[in-house]
Amino acid sequence: MWWRLSLPVQPELEESLLWKLNDLGLHRVAIQHAPETPDQRTLLAWLPAYEWPEDQRSELFLTLMPLAATFHLTLAQPVWDELADEDWSRSWKQHWQPDPVGQRLLILPAWLEVPDEHAHRLVLKMDPGSAFGTGSHPTTRLCLEALEQTPPSGLRVADLGCGSGVLGVAALALGARQVLSVDTDSLAVRATTDNADLNGLSADQLSVTLGSVEVLATLLEGQPADLLLCNILAPVIEALSPQFESVLRPGGRGLLSGLLVEQAPRLTQVLESLGWIVEPLAEQGRWGLLEIRR
Ligand code: SAH
Repeated sequence: MWWRLSLPVQPELEESLLWKLNDLGLHRVAIQHAPETPDQRTLLAWLPAYEWPEDQRSELFLTLMPLAATFHLTLAQPVWDELADEDWSRSWKQHWQPDPVGQRLLILPAWLEVPDEHAHRLVLKMDPGSAFGTGSHPTTRLCLEALEQTPPSGLRVADLGCGSGVLGVAALALGARQVLSVDTDSLAVRATTDNADLNGLSADQLSVTLGSVEVLATLLEGQPADLLLCNILAPVIEALSPQFESVLRPGGRGLLSGLLVEQAPRLTQVLESLGWIVEPLAEQGRWGLLEIRR
């Protein structure tokens, strides 16, 4: 017996909610959305019924509520469905769909075939069961679209805060020579390793190490990258920014996302004071993408 939680979520909450559920050991999750209405999404989570009596389920919801408050949003009422002897694993997987991004990319849950209508796209195979979902968050899409628009052909790329590794996998699909990625979360390191394997990438092509910008600088061995990808929240980017020059070479390009549009002016100021030329490159909903050069 399983409980299935259905919770309508605003796109900006998706990543934090998935993150929290994973943190709580709940890995059977999915985001349901139709390509026509990308802003209307439902978070689904499957919980073993015997471990989740009503008081526990209410408590779970109370744990999730503050995440919405951070964004000045409120959560909708959750719907709990009791599922009898359903094969939860199949029902869980069937909610993940191939997800076209930009003109040329396709995020594909690993167990699916490429649909004919997307046969021309570059496939990024992802295992949504690993901690970091598939990369349908607006900030991830912003980075993917920017990568596609200016493909990183032949470049050495640094991915700071790699999560699922989706940006690195995409960079390599778009012609990058090498991707060095780091993340402070060991689950992300595992997810990126798994997703690199799924895409047949060797450790020489896509490496991932536990750590942050200092570790990245060491991995680059004194030769800063041509392209820096960093999709983390604005305050974290700000805190890391004094060290960007150790990981991004002069003349190289940095793509920074994870910031809300209203956070861009302050972050721009900080980056400019560090000698970077900053340009707002794109926006999606409330999220923004900045490009930095030096
Ligand atoms: N790059 C992925 C994941 C973005 S989520 C994507 O675009 O989809 C942000 C990631 O940054 C998380 O995996 C988080 O663990 C990691 N992170 C947070 N603070 C960090 C820091 N100080 N240094 C490195 N990684 C960090």
